[in-house]
Amino acid sequence: MTSFKEFAKACKVIEGTPGSLDMTALVAELLVKVTPEELPVVTHFVMGEIFPAWSSEEIGVGAGILYSALAKSAGLSVADIKEIVRETGDIGETAVKALKKVSSGQATFSSFMEDSSDLSILEVYERFQAISKTSGKGSQTSKMKNLQYLFNSASSEEVGYIARISVEELRIGVGEGIARDAISKAFDVPSDEIERAFMLTNDLGLVAVTAREGGRDAVQSLGLELNRPIRMMLAQVTPDFDIALSDLGTAAVEWKFDGARVQIHKEGDSITLFSRRLENITDSLPDVVEAVRENIDAESAILDGEAVAIDENGRPRAFQDILKRFRRKYDVQSTAREIPLILNLFDIMYLNGEELLDLPLVERRAKLEGCVRSGDKIRVDTQYITDDLDKIMVIYNEALKAGHEGVMIKNPQSPYSPGKRGKNWLKKKPVMETLDLVVIGAEWGYGRRTSFLGSYALACHDPDTGRFLPVGRVATGFSDEQLAELTDMFSDLIVTEAGTEVEIKPEVIFEVAFEEIQKSVNYDSGYALRFPRLVNVRSDKSIEDVETIGRLEEMYLVQRERN
Ligand code: ATP
Repeated sequence: MTSFKEFAKACKVIEGTPGSLDMTALVAELLVKVTPEELPVVTHFVMGEIFPAWSSEEIGVGAGILYSALAKSAGLSVADIKEIVRETGDIGETAVKALKKVSSGQATFSSFMEDSSDLSILEVYERFQAISKTSGKGSQTSKMKNLQYLFNSASSEEVGYIARISVEELRIGVGEGIARDAISKAFDVPSDEIERAFMLTNDLGLVAVTAREGGRDAVQSLGLELNRPIRMMLAQVTPDFDIALSDLGTAAVEWKFDGARVQIHKEGDSITLFSRRLENITDSLPDVVEAVRENIDAESAILDGEAVAIDENGRPRAFQDILKRFRRKYDVQSTAREIPLILNLFDIMYLNGEELLDLPLVERRAKLEGCVRSGDKIRVDTQYITDDLDKIMVIYNEALKAGHEGVMIKNPQSPYSPGKRGKNWLKKKPVMETLDLVVIGAEWGYGRRTSFLGSYALACHDPDTGRFLPVGRVATGFSDEQLAELTDMFSDLIVTEAGTEVEIKPEVIFEVAFEEIQKSVNYDSGYALRFPRLVNVRSDKSIEDVETIGRLEEMYLVQRERN
C-alpha cells in the first residue's frame, strides 16, 4: 500500500521539473512503484482528475465547500481563508498555510501534526468517492465532513495536494500527453498504441492497468465496448473545395448539420446516448431513445450522428435550443414536445459484435444503411460520392439554403479514427472561423456592473502538460442578461479571488470570433487575439475540445500565408 505522502512527494518533484521528458520519466517511475489497485487512481490523480472524464461519478466540490471545510479544520472563518487565498493566490498553498496555524498554535484537532499522517492513496480516493456519492439535502455538510476528515488526517505536505485534487486543479504540469508517454515508458508499450487504446476506452487508468498486467498484446486487444463512449472523430477546416478535392481525389460529401453530436450505443433493447463531451445524456432524450429502439435493426451497434432541433417548418432551430434538451433533468417530456429532434446518422463503428473502425467509410456506410429504417425521427444523411467541384458547390448551397452550416467532405476510403482531427474529414462553412477557448479568469465589473463578472480571461490548451495557456480576454459580445447568467454560472467555479480579479476553474468554453491572431509576449501562449468577441457558450464541449497551442500556431501560419 502506498501512502498519500509518497504521492505528494512525487508531485512536488514533478512540479519542480522543467523538461517534459524528465517529467515523463518521473511519472513513469511513480506508476511502476504503486500497487495494481492504486495504479488507475494514481494515473487519474497525476492529471488532476479523480474519475475518468466519461464516468457518471463527479466530485462536485467547488470553492465554497472547500473553503468551509478548510475553515472548519483550521478553526478559522471562511473570511480568513479567503484572505489567505488573496495572499497566496493558490488553493494548495492556502490549505498548507491555514492548517499550519493549527499545528503551530490553536490545535483544534490533535490528529493534525507534521509527519503524523498515514493516509493511503486509496483512502483519499475512497473519501472522494464517498463525496461524489452524496447528493440532495444535507449533501454539502456530508461533503465537507469528508474533506475535513482528509485535512485532519493529512500532514502539511499532503493537504495542499488534497485541496487541489478535490477541486480537480492539481496543476503539476501532467496532461494526457505526458501521462500517455509515462504509461508507455513504465510498461514498455509503444506510445501510439497507448494513445489508440485511450481513444477507444477514454480511460488512461484502465489503459495503464492493462499495460502493466498484459503488456503490449493486452493493450492492442483493448477495443470498443458497448456503453463506454469512444472519442468522436473530428474534422479539419478546409479553406476551399478545390484544395479539399486535390487532397482527396474523389470525396464523400454530406451536409454539415446544424445540431449537436450524439453517439448511440444499442445493446438489445437498451439504448445509451453520449454527447460530444461523452456524457451520458440518455435520460434527457427519451424521444431519441425510442426512435433508435424502433428503427435500428441490429442486436448491437454503436452509431454516430447529429441531432437537429427543428422548427414547425422543418428548419434547424438555434443551437441554444438543442442545448436546452441535452442534459435536461426536469420537464424532460414537455421539452421534448416543445423542441423535437431529428437524428441524422452518418457513421457506424460497431455492428452485431463486429468492430467496424478499420473498414473504409463507404463500407461502413453500406452497413449503416442496411440497419436503419429512415423516417421522421431518424434518418441516414445523404452522401454524395463525387470529384466534381460544381456538384459540391450545389450541395453546399442546398445545405445553406436549408439552414445548415455547410458541408463535410470525407475521404471515402478512410477508417473511423476516434479522437483524431485529421484530413479524412474536412469541413467547409461560410462563416468566419471561431476558436473554442476555456475561461480561466474574470474580473468584477465597475459602476453599473459591479455585481457582474465580465472581461473573461481565455486560454488554449497544451495537451502534453495539461496546462492552459492564456491568449487574452474577451469583454464584448455580452448583454446584461447574459452577464447575469454567466456570473451565476461562474460563481460556483471561482477558485481564488484577489481584488477584482478572479481565477476560474477551467470548465466553461467560449466560442470566440476575432479579427486576427497575433504574436504576443504578454501571454504565456505566445499569441493574442485581436478584437475577440463571444459568439456562443459551448456547453456541449469539454476541456479536451479546447483549441490546442499547436492549432493556434497552425492558424497563425495559415493566416500569415493568406495575407
Ligand atoms: P463545429 O464547432 O464546427 O461544430 P466541432 O469542433 O464541434 O465543430 P468538428 O470536428 O470541427 O467539430 O466538425 C464536425 C462536427 O460537425 C461534428 O462534431 C458534428 O457535430 C457536426 N456534423 C454535422 N453534420 C455532420 C456530418 N454529416 N458528418 C460529421 N459531422 C457532422
